[in-house]
Amino acid sequence: MSDNHTPGLGMCTAFGCPRFGTMSADTLGSGRWYCGAHFAGAASSNDAKTQIMRRDQVMPIVESINDIRACYGTPAWENGTKVAISKRLKAIDRADLLPNDLDVGIQGWLLRLELTVERLTLDAGQQSFVEPPKTVGIDGPTHAAEFLPYAEEA
Ligand SMILES: [Zn+2]
Repeated sequence: MSDNHTPGLGMCTAFGCPRFGTMSADTLGSGRWYCGAHFAGAASSNDAKTQIMRRDQVMPIVESINDIRACYGTPAWENGTKVAISKRLKAIDRADLLPNDLDVGIQGWLLRLELTVERLTLDAGQQSFVEPPKTVGIDGPTHAAEFLPYAEEA
């Protein structure tokens, strides 16, 4: 049900997803396109993954991913986008996600950002077993025969 809508042009097919659709199982490219978080896994977890990506501490990373994909190599990149990404990531205390010497070019940085979001959404929507509460002994009547509220009337 989560996929039953028309996403914006170029956007992930999962309902409400803020990322570009960059992966498809259809080799002809005419099928549904998903972001890395929604590509694999059960459709039943799509909404939970979308919710995580839209959180205040994650959405700036998602916006940075989209900006790199949309603007790298264009004049906009050098005219503000690169700086905007840097400010955005620092604002959420994620300076660790800024480009570094270990990234192999822009693709390495983009991959690191995408894997960060993928890790955050990995367990989304999965149910976990909840231990039932332990029962304890009960003080009081254990048999109905001990409780005779109308004994005087008999
Ligand atoms: Zn998505």
